[in-house]
Formats: sequence, structure tokens, C-alpha cells
Amino acid sequence: MNEIKVLNSGKKFSHVSVGNLHVFEGKQFVKDATGATSCEISFGTLPTGAAVPFFHSHKENEENYIILSGAGKFQVDDDVFDIEEGSVVRVATNCDRNLKCTSTSPMAYICIQAKEGSLGGYTMTDAEITERQNML
Ligand code: ZN
Repeated sequence: MNEIKVLNSGKKFSHVSVGNLHVFEGKQFVKDATGATSCEISFGTLPTGAAVPFFHSHKENEENYIILSGAGKFQVDDDVFDIEEGSVVRVATNCDRNLKCTSTSPMAYICIQAKEGSLGGYTMTDAEITERQNML
């Protein structure tokens, strides 16, 4: 089982780690460890030939699956398509989804779950350049 480590945090940030993704197995949710309020992020892996053991649907949250390694198939309701390292799949609310690893190496992915339609400003419509001494 994976263990999430809290590495450091401050008033305005939290920094956690699920560890080395090359040896990561299973599923790990990180929202509780980071204190995130806008989305849930999970890391997942599937060994060769394995699928998530159930289909599921969300009422309010869309999901964005980011495939980090491996390849396989993704199913949304009755649509099936190929996925591979670098694929990003957005899945809307109220539909069934699942993914399966078909590559000889395990599939690793991140799933970001956030309330559908909640994104307002983003990138430079939400951000502003600030003056700060660079300490890096
Ligand atoms: Zn989900």
C-alpha cells in the first residue's frame, strides 16, 4: 500500500508526496493530505491486463485522466478508445467510465476530479505577475 508523506507546508501551501511513481501501485487520493478545496487528485496504477474493478459515474464532478505511462483502453458509456502515455481524457458527469491497461508495462495515471462548470478565470485571466525577490 502506498503511503502519502507530508513533506512541508506553510500558511499558503502544502507539499506532499506519493513517492516514486516507478514503484507506486494501486490508488492514492491526496486531497485530505494537501487540504485542497477545489479538486480531488488521485494517483492510480493498473498492472497489465487489469481494469478498474467497477464502472462508476459522478453526479457533479467531471474527471480528467492524465496517462503518465503505459497504454490501454478507455470506456465511456458504450464508447471505447485507445489511450497511451500523454493521453488526457475529460469525462463529463452522469456517464459510466473505466480504463484498462493492455501494455506490457503497468499503466500509471492521475485523475483530477472537480465540479463540472466551476472553472472561471484561468491562466492569465486569473493570474497576475507580481514583484517578489527570487530566492530560488
Ligand atoms: Zn471518479
